[in-house]
Amino acid sequence: MAVLGLVGSFGCSVNDTPSAKKAIVVGGGIGGICTAARLARSGFSVSVYEKNNALGGRMSELKLETDAGEYRFDTGPSLLLLPEVYRQTFRDLGVDIDDVVELTRLDPNYKVFRGQDRLCIRSDVSKMREDLEAVEKGSFEEWRKYSSSALAFFRGGFHSFIEKDDMDILTKSDYRQWIQMVLKGGNPLESHVAYLSRRFTSQTLIGAASFQDLYVGLSPFKAPAVFSLLGALEAEQGVWYPKGGMRAIARALVNVAKENGVQFHTSTSVRRIGTESTTAKYVELEDGSRETADVFVVNADQTYAARELLGYTDRQDPAFSSGVVNVMLAVEDPCEGLEHHNIFLADDFRKSWDGIFEPGLHLPNDFNMYVHVPSKTDPAAAPQGCSSVMCLIPCGTLPGNREELLTKAKAGAIETLSKFFPQETIRAQAFYEPNHWKLTYNLDRGAAFGLAHNIQQLAIFRPSQRSSTFTNVYFVGASTRPGNGVPLVMISSRLCTEKVLQDFA
Ligand SMILES: Cc1cc2nc3c(=O)[nH]c(=O)nc-3n(C[C@H](O)[C@H](O)[C@H](O)COP(=O)(O)OP(=O)(O)OC[C@H]3O[C@@H](n4cnc5c(N)ncnc54)[C@H](O)[C@@H]3O)c2cc1C
Repeated sequence: MAVLGLVGSFGCSVNDTPSAKKAIVVGGGIGGICTAARLARSGFSVSVYEKNNALGGRMSELKLETDAGEYRFDTGPSLLLLPEVYRQTFRDLGVDIDDVVELTRLDPNYKVFRGQDRLCIRSDVSKMREDLEAVEKGSFEEWRKYSSSALAFFRGGFHSFIEKDDMDILTKSDYRQWIQMVLKGGNPLESHVAYLSRRFTSQTLIGAASFQDLYVGLSPFKAPAVFSLLGALEAEQGVWYPKGGMRAIARALVNVAKENGVQFHTSTSVRRIGTESTTAKYVELEDGSRETADVFVVNADQTYAARELLGYTDRQDPAFSSGVVNVMLAVEDPCEGLEHHNIFLADDFRKSWDGIFEPGLHLPNDFNMYVHVPSKTDPAAAPQGCSSVMCLIPCGTLPGNREELLTKAKAGAIETLSKFFPQETIRAQAFYEPNHWKLTYNLDRGAAFGLAHNIQQLAIFRPSQRSSTFTNVYFVGASTRPGNGVPLVMISSRLCTEKVLQDFA
């Protein structure tokens, strides 16, 4: 374990001096924890109020006990992408991530299944030749070309659209990168499926190259081709696994924050933020008590928080990502044939995306499904010879008939997986549906990934870290800039901290 220094970047020690500015963070998700730790290191006295009894927000886990022992499931994030962003976040907090979490790079990144087709997606494209050619003759060369244009989108788009702050000035090098991006990649705004359909005829390959659009809350039929950068970043930087599951990351961040003096108050819901004119004054907790501060950082999801905690709405009719159903299965079987990350694509690719971004708990008859089996890499995730299997099934959002949704999702998931283990080997099971995401984390409509990333809600069109209404209120998290996904939320925490420091340090 690293020995963590308590000295902040302003040279003060633990931040309880009377002169220290006080910051309150509403929500102990990754965005809240990272911002609290960053502010504490910059000399603020920081308190975090989290409604749930555990910290980490959506980066959560579930344990199921059986006679054979314990099964552990990552119920939220399970793919550690963009490892350099994690490394930098820990470095910013004075810690080497390798001293606190054991990271393993996975190979393959995913195994994709559709009908009789099987395709292992690997960072080293040359190792995919056999699989690709078996799915569609001649596709190996096309996949290489597609990967290189996707990489151009990643190189051109990531820095200027994701890492850059809205206040930064675009440089000549940004423009040069964009020109390179269009020359090498083609039209970044064409639909992703149209872009892929000129390269492949197999729906398996089109689906395998575009399912990641779901991570940004879009259907590949609507997502612009620039989002092929998601697959490129996975190939380029790898898909990683932290030993103990993603929750190990949240635990390590909480430890760093505590060692920097952050005070965490769990099982403490904030009912509202009290304001006078354009200034926030206090948070009111569920028991009616009030806590004052100079600065308020809101990590609770932006659309809910602006409306319910601060009493304003800054966008009419926002577009949300899909909902998801989680099916967690404790299986007394090694699940031969599955890998750590698996994607099951529906036969009817078009219909599988219809309706899942609309209100209403819609689930297509033939649905896409992601299956996480961490016990393939981490023996501690399940008893010996057994598997913890978590299925994520994208669906529509609230309101709707939850019973009907769950019955359909459970039956479909278990039937698809029956090729890998007999149903009788399921020793325990648990399920979440969009109402879980709404009630547990206050996510509007139960949309698991918050605001979608359509053009109207992308980059500078996404809610900023600075509140448009109150001078000392800041937002951090998946529904703010740059967007959804743990690494982007970590970037959001850096942008948020920079703004607080510009205004208050
Ligand atoms: C099923 C699923 C799978 C995912 N898979 C991946 C993946 O593989 N890789 C990846 O990088 N990302 C993934 N993501 C996205 C990632 O989990 C999120 O982008 C990220 O965790 C969001 O962090 P956050 O801090 O913005 O929000 P949250 O985690 O939602 O944190 C906000 C916190 O605020 C609290 N809160 C809300 N209201 C109040 C209140 N009134 N008072 C006090 N506290 C309050 C909530 O309880 C919560 O703890 C996944 C998400 C889901 C749901």
